[in-house]
Parts: sequence; structure tokens; C-alpha cells
Amino acid sequence: MNYGIDIWGNDNFFIDNKKVKINYKSSPSLVKITKEIRDKGLRGPILLRFPHLIEKQISLIYENFKNAKEEFDYKGSFNAVYPLKVNQYPNFVKNLVKIGKKYNYGLEAGSKAELMLAMVYNNKNSPMTVNGFKDEEMISLGFIAKEMGHNITLTIEGLSELKNIIKINKQRFSHTPNIGLRIRLHSSGIGIWAKSGGMNSKFGLTSTELIEAMNMLKKADLIDKFSMIHFHIGSQISEIGPLKKALREAGNIYAQLKKMGAVGLNAINLGGGLAIEYSQHTDEIKRNYTLREYANDIVYLLKDISNNNRVKEPDIYIESGRYIAASHAVLVAPVLELFSQEYTETKLKLKDENPPLVQELYELYNTIDRTYAQEYLHDSIDHMNSLLTLFDLGYIDLVDRSNTEVLVNLIIKKAIILLKDRDSKELLQIQDMIQERYLINFSIFQSLPDFWGIEQNFPVMPLDRLDEKPTRSASIWDITCDSDGEISYNREQPLFLHELDVTQEDYFLGFFLVGAYQEVLGMKHNLFTHPSEATILIDDDGYEIKDSLEAQSVIDIMEDLDYDVGEINERLVQQIKSSDLIDDKVKSYILDEINVFLNDNGYLKTVS
Ligand SMILES: *Cc1c(COP(=O)(O)O)cnc(C)c1O
Repeated sequence: MNYGIDIWGNDNFFIDNKKVKINYKSSPSLVKITKEIRDKGLRGPILLRFPHLIEKQISLIYENFKNAKEEFDYKGSFNAVYPLKVNQYPNFVKNLVKIGKKYNYGLEAGSKAELMLAMVYNNKNSPMTVNGFKDEEMISLGFIAKEMGHNITLTIEGLSELKNIIKINKQRFSHTPNIGLRIRLHSSGIGIWAKSGGMNSKFGLTSTELIEAMNMLKKADLIDKFSMIHFHIGSQISEIGPLKKALREAGNIYAQLKKMGAVGLNAINLGGGLAIEYSQHTDEIKRNYTLREYANDIVYLLKDISNNNRVKEPDIYIESGRYIAASHAVLVAPVLELFSQEYTETKLKLKDENPPLVQELYELYNTIDRTYAQEYLHDSIDHMNSLLTLFDLGYIDLVDRSNTEVLVNLIIKKAIILLKDRDSKELLQIQDMIQERYLINFSIFQSLPDFWGIEQNFPVMPLDRLDEKPTRSASIWDITCDSDGEISYNREQPLFLHELDVTQEDYFLGFFLVGAYQEVLGMKHNLFTHPSEATILIDDDGYEIKDSLEAQSVIDIMEDLDYDVGEINERLVQQIKSSDLIDDKVKSYILDEINVFLNDNGYLKTVS
């Protein structure tokens, strides 16, 4: 049982000596790192960041495009920018910018705040692209970035933005950023994000608007600043076909615009969309192409179109975000409790005289063996159904019903262990009935918002005990009070975890590929905040834990919501001081205690 690590793991992790280890240099295990961080006092879920995985993704992209350019003797350059919307957290972005320097890797911004971040952190001379809707203030900010010396391209989403650029250019500035035009393609992407492309997409200029834009640029004497066309057909593009189709369309628009006098136009920006594989199960694999194929197709197609049209081969820009960021972060969360442990033999309350079917169940439970396991299983489920009907009709009492539940549960558990090397469909189905609910110290809304919002599955597995066959069909509960905070057991993609006594041992689950979109989309449902985090630098001798940050304290979260912190403190103190129910002698002790709670993070504390 390797939890599909060979499908989604991309050789970043491996199982050795029962544990999940990081496949890099000294190969530490995730459990060891987690325990070390917890020993320093951090509790609750912890997000681990691995900069070497950011470096791996960036270098893979540049390497594959370099190879493709060589293979097809492509004359244009290859460039990439990282779209900040995918993850803007400082301990990710700062590492990314540092690693990207030698590649001249740039940043993409889609809002004023992201543009400010790009201006502060982008490496000098690395490209900076700005997409999204812009008002005059944001356009001015782009001009300021240009005058600060940045290599910036403002991509226009509509003609009114272009009018504003022309106006602002005349009014104030002596240097003009490069201008990009987002084009509206008739080809659209596939999957849930397909609406980023296509004729009805939210973004981009139609052919008629493109011609108008060209005229406006010529008239304003800015045609030499128009350097790039841009499109983005959506995220997590699972099949290469639609991208190739869009690229053919965009390549021909590029050639046409050049022929119409776009003298400064020298680049095509293909946006993001490069997919990663999240699946833990072979039959669920989504992506049908490799990075090599992606790079080769792009370079080959653009070369072909440029040659046919006798125009210069364009510089290529991509804005992959998910592909760069997803793998760098792993969320480690402890199991707090198992919810069906009440079904032990000690819970049986058999009477001197039991209903015959209950008695029968008891005998099945005592005599079940390997040979008859499946047959006994069927019988016990039949008996249970009959007994439940008898209860509804008033023939048996609550104690009989409880004995039925306990016995059937015990029989199923025994049968599963006896039949554990048979992977039959039926067994999976039966396991559905005895799901164990694992209560995990995290919030799905905060840490896996795409699971809640768009049913995106993320790989999940225990970090230890991987030499033992897990026998419990598991559903995962988070600690929010929301019934959507559950990853329920799915027969098609079953998750099995180990039997466990949480009072005796720690058991950690790792949620993988959570580095793209999840952090900033995460919401403070029930006021659970961004988890604690740490950055792990691995070398040949060991590893270093850097930039540990504890999750926000309860009082900080309240302040974020614009509560008056002074008022909160005052009201608590006042209520404790004036309460007749608290002994005066312990009041100051209780005040100290509540102060500690306010300044702690709000996740639960595990037992051991
Ligand atoms: C979101 C976005 C991206 C990033 O897409 P990924 O699928 O994460 O690679 C790139 N470009 C634009 C314009 C975007 O809106």
C-alpha cells in the first residue's frame, strides 16, 4: 500500500523504513521533521515548505524549453513569470525570487497589491507582467514601476484600459511600460476552468477590438510599445489538444498583427495552465501529457506558424503557477480521535435471553474463520437488516439493537482482517459500512478550500507505519462545526488508514500538493486561521528548520475582524472580577489563564 505515491509523488517522496521520506540529499523523514517542530512547542497542523521543490520545478521548465528550442532551432527567447495569485505568502515568494534569479524568472501581478509586491521583490531586469482589470491608479503604478527601472508589460483587458494608458502617458510620464493585448480566442480550454478562454470568456479583445487597438496605438505614437499578445485558456489543462488549438489561433493573430504594422510586437504569452497530477489512483489519472511534450508542441507550432507567415519567431512567455507552487508545500496534521472505537467487545450487553438473531450473530462472531469469512459476513448483514426492522416494529429493545450494531461491526472487522489479501469489490463495499472517522486537527476550509469548493482531491497518506497493511476504511473529519468539513470514504477511491490508539501514539497525516491556491483561498471558517508553518532546507548532512511561524493567536484573529481588542479584554476581565461563582482567591489565576488562551492559536492540543 503506497497511497499512489508513484503517481502523484513525482519522485519527490519515497517510502523507506516504514516512513515517508523526502527524496533529496540526506532524505529526512517527514515524521522526524514534524516531531522536531512539535518538540519546540508548535501544536496543531503544520505546513512544511521545501524550497528545493520550487527549484526543481523552475529548473525543469527552463530545461525543457531550452531543449525544445535547440531541437527545433528556435530563434525567439523563452521567458517565464510566476503569477502571484497562486501563492503570495512571503516564505514562498521570497524563496522563489531568490531561486529564480539565475533564470531571470519574473513575476506576474493581477491586482494593485500584487503589483506592489512585484515591484518590491522582482529581480531587476526579470520580466514583470500585469494582467487583470486596471483603473487609472493601477496604470499609473505600472508607469512608476517602469520609471523605477522594471522590465514591465501592462496587458490590456479591454479598450478603455488602453484609452487610460494613452491618457496617462501624455499627462505625466516620460517612460512608457510595454503594452500587451489580451486576445479573445474562439478556442476554449477544457475542465472547470475553461471559462478563462473562449468567445464568452471574461477577458480579452475580439478581432474587431484588436484592429481598433492597433489604430489607437498608432495614432498615439505608441505602436512600438505594443510588444506582446497574451492569452490564458484556464488552469490545470488536462489535455494538450485544446492548448495546441488555442496556440495555432494565437500564432496566426500574432502573424497578422505583425503584417498590419505592429512593429514592436515580438512576444506571445501563453498564460498558465500546466497541470499537475493529484490522483492517488491509477484509474483517476487526469493529465495526458508531459512537460517535454508541452514545451516541444509550443516551440514547434510557433516556429511553424512564423515560418509559414514569414514573420520573426516570437519570444515565448509562460505564466505557470500551479506547476511551480503545488508540490513545495505539505500539510501535516495530527489525528485527534477515532470515532467508532466504542464498538469493542466490552460494549456488549448480552442478556440471559437474547432474541434468536442476536444470539445467532454472537455465534457467527465467535466462530468466524478464514474459510467462511465471506459467507458469515453476508449472514450477519442480513441479520442486522432483519433486527433493525424488528426494532422499528417494536419487537426488540434498544439494548438488543445496540448489541446488534456492536456484533455486526465486530464481525465485519474480523472478516476484513481474515480476508485482507483479497481485494474484492465487495470487500470495499462492506468497508463502506464500517468506516472509521478520523478526526484531524485541521480545517478543510482553511487548508484544502478547493476540496470544498470544486471537489479537488489532494493526495493524503499517513507518514509512518507504512510496513503495516491499513485495515480501516477511513473518512476524514476536520475540526470545524460544518458537515462539509469532511472527506468521506469513497468506494471508487478508497482511503485506508491504520487502527490506532491516540492516547498511546501520535499518528500524522500528510496532505500533499497543497502549495498552489490553497493557502490564500483558505478561509477562516469557525475562525481557524492559516496553520503554523516552517521552511525546511535539506543538505547532505541533515536539514535545517527555518522561518517557523506559529498560526495567528485567537486575539489576532479577532483584531483582523476589526474587533476592538481593548474592549474584548476589558469585558472578559470585568466578567471574571464581578462573578460570584468564581472564588476570589483564584480570580487572578483565571485571568492569567484566559490571557494565555487568547494569545495561543485556536487549533486543538493533542493528548500526548
Ligand atoms: C491564474 C493565471 C495563471 C496561472 O495559472 P496556473 O494554472 O496556475 O498555471 C497564469 N496567467 C493568468 C493570466 C492567470 O489568470
